[in-house]
Amino acid sequence: MGTIICQSCDATIEHFEVEKVTTLYSNCPNCKKQRKTGQKQS
Ligand SMILES: [Zn+2]
Repeated sequence: MGTIICQSCDATIEHFEVEKVTTLYSNCPNCKKQRKTGQKQS
């Protein structure tokens, strides 16, 4: 089983079926949103 983990908040984003155990890192929708608008953060 494969798992996609958010590299920003370590939340599990998604599980997917693969032959071997795999961990991928991405950003969850929440962190993606924060990144796009994060520059305005004060
Ligand atoms: Zn996240």
